[in-house]
Amino acid sequence: MGKEGFVTTITRQSEDFPGWYNDVVLKAELADYSPVRGCMVIRPYGFAIWESMRDELDRHIKATGHSNVYFPLFVPRSLLEKEAEHVEGFNPQVAWVTHAGGKELDEWLAIRPTSEAIIAESIRDWIQSYRDLPLLMNLWNNVVRWEMRTRLFLRTTEFLWQEAHTFHASAQEAIEEVDLGLEMYRRVAEEWLAIPVISGRKTEGEKFPGAVYTYSVEAMMRDRRALQAGTSHYLGENFAAAADVWFLDRDNVRRHPHGTSWGFSTRMVGATIMAHGDDAGLVLPPKVAPVQVVIVPISRTEEERVAVAGAIERFLAALAATPQGAAVRVKVDWREESPGFKFNHWELRGVPFRLEVGPRDVAAGQGILVRRVDRAKEAIPLDRLAAELPLRLAGYQQELLQRARDFRAANTHQVEDYESFKSVVEGEGGFLMAHWCGSPACEKQVNDETGATIRNIPFDSPAEPGPCIADGAPSDRRVLFARAY
Ligand SMILES: [Zn+2]
Repeated sequence: MGKEGFVTTITRQSEDFPGWYNDVVLKAELADYSPVRGCMVIRPYGFAIWESMRDELDRHIKATGHSNVYFPLFVPRSLLEKEAEHVEGFNPQVAWVTHAGGKELDEWLAIRPTSEAIIAESIRDWIQSYRDLPLLMNLWNNVVRWEMRTRLFLRTTEFLWQEAHTFHASAQEAIEEVDLGLEMYRRVAEEWLAIPVISGRKTEGEKFPGAVYTYSVEAMMRDRRALQAGTSHYLGENFAAAADVWFLDRDNVRRHPHGTSWGFSTRMVGATIMAHGDDAGLVLPPKVAPVQVVIVPISRTEEERVAVAGAIERFLAALAATPQGAAVRVKVDWREESPGFKFNHWELRGVPFRLEVGPRDVAAGQGILVRRVDRAKEAIPLDRLAAELPLRLAGYQQELLQRARDFRAANTHQVEDYESFKSVVEGEGGFLMAHWCGSPACEKQVNDETGATIRNIPFDSPAEPGPCIADGAPSDRRVLFARAY
């Protein structure tokens, strides 16, 4: 099989979305399967995408006063079992170390599924008085949750993430912190990944095990399913009380601190693929794209090659003359492959702009600029492009966000009754804004019968009385239902 054949054989997105997704992840060399079932190897191009969103989120985390720390991979069984709801929620997914050093351990060690339990235990001695609060910590690490059905980036047994853990003297301060964490996720999703999200509160049934409440941001993928893009939890005094953590407050009363935790993971690489990609592969927002502009030189003779190389060098020098231009991530593809092969290669990898430079372009002082998202072609003088490129990348970023907003709007349905709810879920899919009375039984019934879950109760869902779609009981606002990843 020829190389051009290889890169063009990705499954069509419209025909088989999961098949398309796997093809893009594997053939764009983002990740690969590993010898351990359910785990993944993240390859350089995929890791560069993760690093970009990780670094952006890390800037937000530090700018709001949090410090990065590290806690151990292993959690003693007795610690994990201190918070009853927590252990009940996580137990089926926990991997245990039972043997080490050639013998059975006296106490099993959990490989952390999350770090609330070990952190609450560790900080007991750190917090003596209200002066030691707030304690604002963040960990970048890996966690393990045993999954039955896994998918690269979206649901893997081991994944990378950040988990922030904060402790506060008052409930009010912790509640504001939960909002702050969620707002960081909204900003990274929308401003960095060009993925619009809906912020809201999870139902009791969907909240984090051991939390008082959970907030989430939810995004729509190109197959109209929802993906949870980040969660932020108010833990109340639950974990601190279970670990016997106390502080002396201003009024000389001993109290438990109020906790929060919030997390954002490598599944957002999967979200970036599924929120923007098309039949030719990835479509990356410039901010997260490891390569923002690829230059494809076109020549047949050595003389042409020299002329084209000279024009490209002059273009790169002009681009580097301004700080914004120098920051653009450009790659010149000099490989000995056909132009068609290179076009497919970089389209599959979602590079926002391709610049073709051939002998006739050199003579005219121009290049052919092609946008990945719509393949729009434009002949443009190279000196003008050097000056305009940073602005064009910013514009492209905004266009992708707007395109995703328009797609979501076109696939969001206000649904009044259960029959139309079912027909939308079974048919075109998308987000369904419908009334729900608040009963866990109704929530479960809808999930069992349609596969759709309540993604969250959007903060901006207006007060509006109506009948619950499941049992007709009164509801005071609509909630967001969808089938989800
Ligand atoms: Zn109901």
